Amino acid sequence: MPTPYIFDGHNDAILRLWKGGVAGVVERFQNSETGHIDLAKAKAGGLAGGFFAMFVPPVESFSMPSFTPPYDEPLPAELDQQYALKIVVEQAGILLTLDRAGVLAVCRNHAEISSAIANGKMAAIMHLEGAEAIDRELIALETLYAAGLRSIGPVWSRPTVFGHGVPFRYPSDGDTGPGLTPEGKALAARCLELGVILDTSHLNIAGFWDVAAAGLPLVATHSNAHAISPGARNLTDDQLRAIGETGGMVGLNFGTMFLREDGKAAPEGGIEAAMRHLSHMIELAGEDHVGLGSDFDGAPMPHNMETAAALPNLRQAMKDHQFGEAVIAKICHKNWLAFIGRTLG
Ligand SMILES: [Zn+2]
Repeated sequence: MPTPYIFDGHNDAILRLWKGGVAGVVERFQNSETGHIDLAKAKAGGLAGGFFAMFVPPVESFSMPSFTPPYDEPLPAELDQQYALKIVVEQAGILLTLDRAGVLAVCRNHAEISSAIANGKMAAIMHLEGAEAIDRELIALETLYAAGLRSIGPVWSRPTVFGHGVPFRYPSDGDTGPGLTPEGKALAARCLELGVILDTSHLNIAGFWDVAAAGLPLVATHSNAHAISPGARNLTDDQLRAIGETGGMVGLNFGTMFLREDGKAAPEGGIEAAMRHLSHMIELAGEDHVGLGSDFDGAPMPHNMETAAALPNLRQAMKDHQFGEAVIAKICHKNWLAFIGRTLG
């Protein structure tokens, strides 16, 4: 496996598997023709683990925007909690099926990740992208926590009972609405008590500062620098500084529309833009608080970064751009693992 190995902040492989039906998930996880991540590609690229998102797609025929700037897409409607919970239970079941089959390990802390990687198993943190499946009283959170859930994004862009996300809008900053609701603040407090990561990617700026006020470290698992690509999903310099100051993390999103200066979803120049984002994020957040958050299986990828098998190109680009060996290792996995040690134990 190429080194340093990569532990990644965000992928949507479970969503892709779920869309294909629950039959044959183990085989499709081992080898997939169309996906960005499977075990064969992970081995070729040196991807050892990461945050595996569970995500409930919009009910109505919502089509992702064309990402032809300028754009400002209306958000899909809120989801019914019972509807969302059923799908999240299925997706958590897929992760647990992969774990039982021995092709992946659902990890709840730093020690479990280290041991999975030492045994050559894909290490997965169970993540919920958009907390629609959780009820206002947080009862379902207990069940999901027992199943292994250790990271929650209160919103995926569309509103939830917990907060408000940013729309797909370019150019725009993330100052697009009110902060966390009272239920969102209660969710943040419970995550702090339980030791669950609260992810601010997709959250608006007011919500971001509410997470900081709750005493949680600020983490954006898959977001980029607004100073480089000024779309609503990317983080301002103030946000990046606060991520460093709170001992948090930001993961570089490979999605072309979040990388490119012009906000287009086009594959050209993505890897060069990625280097500019990394440099800027390191400058603002500090070299101990920046990692990767690929968005594999969830976003269009740049040239030479098409799948997990192409990750050696990213390491090479970092070398070519004079990132030192120690910094490259931090970006590839050391920072995410240190953060997980601080937050999940
Ligand atoms: Zn996302």
